[in-house]
Amino acid sequence: MIDTPLRRPKAVLFDRDGTLVVDVPYNGDPSQVQLMPGVRSALDRIRERNIPIGVVSNQSGIARNYITTLQVQQVNDRIADLAGHIDGWFTCPHGPDDSCACRKPQPGLIIEAAARFGVEPGECVVIGDIGADVVAARAAGARSILVPTSQTRAEEIEHAPEVAPSLSAAVDTVLR
Ligand SMILES: [Mg+2]
Ligand SMILES: [Zn+2]
Repeated sequence: MIDTPLRRPKAVLFDRDGTLVVDVPYNGDPSQVQLMPGVRSALDRIRERNIPIGVVSNQSGIARNYITTLQVQQVNDRIADLAGHIDGWFTCPHGPDDSCACRKPQPGLIIEAAARFGVEPGECVVIGDIGADVVAARAAGARSILVPTSQTRAEEIEHAPEVAPSLSAAVDTVLR
């Protein structure tokens, strides 16, 4: 594995479901949004340093016709109400059989986010809860930190280059 330099990132990219918010599969209902612990204050610490915050999220419920893009937007708006301003939302609306370049573990969302923020993928850190987040980051050349939940598989934790016990701890690590 290539050593990633541990300098302060120029953008922090978060997975959404299971990372910023409690994972409610295919959630299209803003009233179901619940932040993970410590999210608001952790994001505020990033904002204090003027580092842009992006969200990189697979939303295959759109391709599956379980939810609409408007519903995803409404859920995202609710997340921003609770967590504060998000500088960019990057969403894959495709399904696993669509062979798109954006559905994690593909790196497309991370490359797109880096371009939007005017930084290199290698200057970004991706914080997520499953192996697909880590693999997407690696494929883009970004640093990643895994914050496992009860849904995270043991081998995903084992193969992650960095693991933190909470989102807050992950943020403290990247801002150090
Ligand atoms: Mg997730
Ligand atoms: Zn996609």
